[in-house]
Amino acid sequence: MKVPFVDLQAQYRAIAGEVHAAIEPVMANTRFILGEEVRLFEQEFAAFCGARHCVGVASGTDALHLIVRALGIGPGDEVITQTNSFIATAIGISYAGAKPVFVDCDAATYQMDVSKLEAAITPRTKAIIPVHLYGQPADMDAVLAVAKRHGLRVIEDACQAHGATYRGRPVGAFGDAAAFSFYPGKNLGAYGDGGAITTHDDALAAKLRAFRDYGQSTKYHHDFCGYNSRLDTMQAAILRVKLKRLSSWNQSRQRAAAAYAKALGRIGVEPPRQVSNGTHVWHLYVIQVANRAAVQKRLGDAGVSTGIHYPVAIHLQKAYADLGCKRGMFPVAEAAADRILSLPMFPELTDAQVDYVASELGKAL
Ligand SMILES: *Cc1c(COP(=O)(O)O)cnc(C)c1O
Repeated sequence: MKVPFVDLQAQYRAIAGEVHAAIEPVMANTRFILGEEVRLFEQEFAAFCGARHCVGVASGTDALHLIVRALGIGPGDEVITQTNSFIATAIGISYAGAKPVFVDCDAATYQMDVSKLEAAITPRTKAIIPVHLYGQPADMDAVLAVAKRHGLRVIEDACQAHGATYRGRPVGAFGDAAAFSFYPGKNLGAYGDGGAITTHDDALAAKLRAFRDYGQSTKYHHDFCGYNSRLDTMQAAILRVKLKRLSSWNQSRQRAAAAYAKALGRIGVEPPRQVSNGTHVWHLYVIQVANRAAVQKRLGDAGVSTGIHYPVAIHLQKAYADLGCKRGMFPVAEAAADRILSLPMFPELTDAQVDYVASELGKAL
């Protein structure tokens, strides 16, 4: 049996007719940049997240960068985030000229260890970026309490968590703004790059709309040097089709996760720990194994594709050598990086595939 890590072809087959019907009018009317579908998608995605505004941008990385900039954070400022994330979380901070400062994660849930936050705050700290990692929410009450005490902004990195909830409310509307990615493999993925920012703040939303479009508020009148970072109309048209199915796809991921938990129980592997105050939308299904390279190789030989998210914590990446971080600074994230293994996870994953993955994993162990 072959079990891909993600099966975007199965998803495409299920929606091909609707996708073609959605993009054909865009090709015909040729409003490829900031066309009607972008506006409609922004409305629909804002409503989905329970936020007042959504601003479509070119990627999740740009979403983070533009939020940091629009909040007036730049050179000389520090922004705290967790070291166990995709590097784009830190790159968004660096693009703005600010310095990423890292904290460790919780050993059980991999979410930001909020008990470490206050020790990382300095007079230069301006914001905190918790990551809703793997598809479940960060401990937002705790993050927001620390931020309030110290007068800091909060930016949610929701790039892996479209539709996840925290205390019954969707992520994307807890902090000053949230960044989403529509990279094809994300829970809501475009057919290319794409991203969005959600926020309650009217002034910030207006600023972000100008930021993504060369700093213009009306055509050819530029208030500042902005960026070219827009969500394509074609991508917005596709995302509108897919957004209607997102909740049902997330439920399918939850069913697959429940099937994994059962199957892993049979082979004595601990399933991922879920936070108690939120729902998980299972962007990634991450377990821990010893001897990971051999296990991964053995699974690959049996037709099971796996991933590692992420093998090197950000503070140990060569790209951030300048920060002078050393191995040992964030021991929980470092230890996890050596053991974590992401099993296949996508909405169309069948129980038979889950059972096959678990039984091959059992043999590999
Ligand atoms: C995917 C991702 C990003 C970046 O999104 P892009 O659209 O690829 O730029 C940022 N943060 C996290 C946690 C991500 O998973």
